[in-house]
Amino acid sequence: MTTPALPAPATGPYRHYVYAYPHKTAYRALEDRPHLAGLWADEPKDALSLYLHIPFCEIRCGFCNLFTRVGAPDGLTGAYLDALDRQAGAVREALAGTGEVRFATAAFGGGTPTFLTAAELDRLCDIAEHRMGADLRAVPLSVEASPATATADRLAVLARRGVTRLSLGVQSFIDSEARAAVRPQRRADVDTALGRVREAGIPVLNIDLIYGIDGQTPVTWLRSLDAALAWRPEELYLYPLYVRPLTGLDRLGGHPDTAWDEQRLALYRVGRDHLLAHGYVQRSMRMFRRADAPPEGAGDYACQTDGMIGLGCGARSYTTTLHYSFDYAVGMNRIRSIIDDYVTRPAAAFAHAEYGRAMDADEARRRHLLQSLLQADGLDTADYRARFGTSPADDFGRELDRFAALGWLTDTAAPGAPATVSGTLRLTPEGLAHSDAIGPDLFSPAVRAAMAAYDRK
Ligand code: SF4
Repeated sequence: MTTPALPAPATGPYRHYVYAYPHKTAYRALEDRPHLAGLWADEPKDALSLYLHIPFCEIRCGFCNLFTRVGAPDGLTGAYLDALDRQAGAVREALAGTGEVRFATAAFGGGTPTFLTAAELDRLCDIAEHRMGADLRAVPLSVEASPATATADRLAVLARRGVTRLSLGVQSFIDSEARAAVRPQRRADVDTALGRVREAGIPVLNIDLIYGIDGQTPVTWLRSLDAALAWRPEELYLYPLYVRPLTGLDRLGGHPDTAWDEQRLALYRVGRDHLLAHGYVQRSMRMFRRADAPPEGAGDYACQTDGMIGLGCGARSYTTTLHYSFDYAVGMNRIRSIIDDYVTRPAAAFAHAEYGRAMDADEARRRHLLQSLLQADGLDTADYRARFGTSPADDFGRELDRFAALGWLTDTAAPGAPATVSGTLRLTPEGLAHSDAIGPDLFSPAVRAAMAAYDRK
């Protein structure tokens, strides 16, 4: 067998945001369409994560390549919830008799889940609770929202149903920057929405902001950060702007260059230092948490090892041996046709995995490494050894040595200590700043080749 030629690795600090490994562009049609009953039969299911995807937005932001469409013609959201209900029923039926199923966390993402009406959000919660059996009031439940759709009636439903975290996509408090990112909105409307979220009493507010927008300077960036800090959000996510294929900004002709890399790195450092000086703790390159915020997450869910069940078009599911989803697209026409297909499917069509990627032992190690190393807490080498029987240095010595030589990585175990001694591999502040360069270096050759060969649509 010949190894496919790989593209020369891109350089620079902004290569790829690794929020899941492998990326969906490495998924392919699964010829054998495995039945979910077999896939989940031997999986641990006592601390699963449940994710429901709502692929609708009011507008398509210029930077966004998520699986979502603009608007919903009459009746489409209702038909989508009907299909979600059928899918939930089919998944639960497939899992029946395979042992205890318990969800430790839940999330509604998208798209914009609050594109749904208040009554539809109630129904969405019913599907998660009554069809899937998630106890929404007992587990962390996170929901994404946009300022315009964070209305009082929707927030009241979410608060009543047990939402513990609401993430608001603000991106910038400067109107001209929001326009430049093709996410037009008015500052006054954003502040009004934030006031409504606080009034709803949802325990954790997250605000998403973006840096690297055309025309953004350290001064305007600090202005946005201070506008966000005025709401004392429990969490802040600071995202570098990317211009990804087929997005609105891509069509406008934005092209990465060294000066833009430098602008983003400089703004990153300004933002990081500002939040650290204002009582926030850095949890990853993008995530900052207020030091006195209530505890987060489910203590018994570990993203490196535990499974996930995703429902809805665009949602991913993870078993230990297979990551699967539906077909994936960024272009609007293709997204529309995938959603149209989803809403017409009978329940039986949801009992199989159709697109995905098998996870072998090597990919499981890479995923564990990526999901630990890119967090500020780093990778506990004893945990890694307990799971895989090897040390990270045995498996990824070349890459780890390179990161260390660049000053991006430290190891808390004493130099020369035997491999059995527990240590923590942790990114340095500069390493965290270069997370989007470190991540892609840890992709397997096979995943890189599949991503490069993906036919963008
Ligand atoms: S960034 Fe959020 S609100 Fe904007 S198009 Fe993407 S999913 Fe929708």
